[in-house]
Amino acid sequence: MKTEQEARIDELRKQIREHDRRYYNDAAPTISDREYDRLLDELKQLEAKNTHYITPDSPTQRVGGEPLDGFRKVEHAYPMLSIDNTYNREDLKKWIERCQEALGDPIDQDGTLPGGYLAEPKIDGVAINLRYEQGLLALATTRGDGSQGDDVTQNVRTIRSIPLRLQNSENTSIPEVVEIRGEIFMPNFEFERINESFSAAGQEGFANPRNATAGTLKLLDSETVAQRKLQFIAHGRGEVLGYESATQSEFLSALGSWGIPTNPLTKPCQGIHEIWELIQEFDTHRSNLTYGVDGVVIKVDPLDLQERLGTTSRFPRWCIAYKYPAEQAATRLLQVDWQVGKTGKLTPRATMDPVFIAGTTVQHATLHNYGEILRKDIRIGDLVIIEKAGEIIPQVVRVEIAERPHKSSPIQPPTECPDCQGEIEAEHDDSGKETSRFCVNPECPAQLRERLIHFAARGQMNIDGMGEKVIHQLSGAGLLNSFGDIFKLSQRREALLNLERMGEKK
Ligand SMILES: [Zn+2]
Repeated sequence: MKTEQEARIDELRKQIREHDRRYYNDAAPTISDREYDRLLDELKQLEAKNTHYITPDSPTQRVGGEPLDGFRKVEHAYPMLSIDNTYNREDLKKWIERCQEALGDPIDQDGTLPGGYLAEPKIDGVAINLRYEQGLLALATTRGDGSQGDDVTQNVRTIRSIPLRLQNSENTSIPEVVEIRGEIFMPNFEFERINESFSAAGQEGFANPRNATAGTLKLLDSETVAQRKLQFIAHGRGEVLGYESATQSEFLSALGSWGIPTNPLTKPCQGIHEIWELIQEFDTHRSNLTYGVDGVVIKVDPLDLQERLGTTSRFPRWCIAYKYPAEQAATRLLQVDWQVGKTGKLTPRATMDPVFIAGTTVQHATLHNYGEILRKDIRIGDLVIIEKAGEIIPQVVRVEIAERPHKSSPIQPPTECPDCQGEIEAEHDDSGKETSRFCVNPECPAQLRERLIHFAARGQMNIDGMGEKVIHQLSGAGLLNSFGDIFKLSQRREALLNLERMGEKK
């Protein structure tokens, strides 16, 4: 017989799982975060009094265990291949023709296939393999080199959209083994929140949500992972025992019935015209999504056809990704500053009228080097076309020469180092054209600062709080003149404590 408390524990677990599903899979929560936390707290307290009744699939067990020393390597039961890319309609049509040919179907103009295709958004995240045994999450592995990846189960358990136990379904019984493949990603709002907190701590943030996801999954401390709200969407399968489906779409709906999130934007389609229409249509509203999408994946839907098409050594032949071109925007170039890199190289940085592109407002772009400015004939006042390839700092692709104002002025290359006023040398390519300019002062403080930033960046040297802003502050205060100074910092605590943003914690 269950005690009253045990029965309440069962009830709370059931409720919490249900709320997780409503929140993450259906995006339709029915209670507030506060009420949710209250349920979780009650469960934690009851479990603390009934430790014999704690099970690994309890919602309280999402943050589990001690920080790890490293990740165990795991061999994949089925290789995790990547997906071949195309960038235009023509190549997409060729892929369809290759499928038709391999299946011995007549090649028709429209590219129809018995059973059709499935089109789904290509999420810019990190691929993962989730292995459920008897319905319980047993293992989560990264792609790695495709044949073996890292065991990141402890971190993946903290992701609330991934059930620790598959939900029982009326129509489809839970298989003995099911490997579910999909994408772990960080929603844009969460990426911004995390980068803001890095910035407030004077540390360098992540370049883009994909890097933030990969970096978070590689953390050895799952408590930190739990604080970053990663999400998951399933799109494929690995090893499956004790369950059969005829099509990819049937498999996806079984996943849904087991409580695994799939993408509601996935659509069946037939032939090149319909596929192309879907791609165009999706492009118009993908910027409204909370996560980054860089293309559409097209799959042959029937699993027997997938099997007949097989794989190359790198890609499955039955699916292909159409990648959208990088987003472009036009804006006015206002100013160019020269920044000193760690090798002394001077990089021109453009300041432009703020412009909205690929989900964020940008004001700066890199112009790479002086040679690039000459080659593209970029002038102050020009209307420039910038491009953002999913991430990083935008690039100036070209200038709208026809729109050039009469008052545009050529960009002057620096004749001395903008930081130390030291001597400059220009580098030329084989044809004698200038490529880059360098500050050749070996004691240039800007170069030293950049080298320190490079080495103190996460992963290079284990110095907490040595972010870019802190290095700038220390350097500005005359406290960093050599590498050795980093290690003397502890003796200069007094001086450090007076600096803005530097607290005892650092
Ligand atoms: Zn210099």
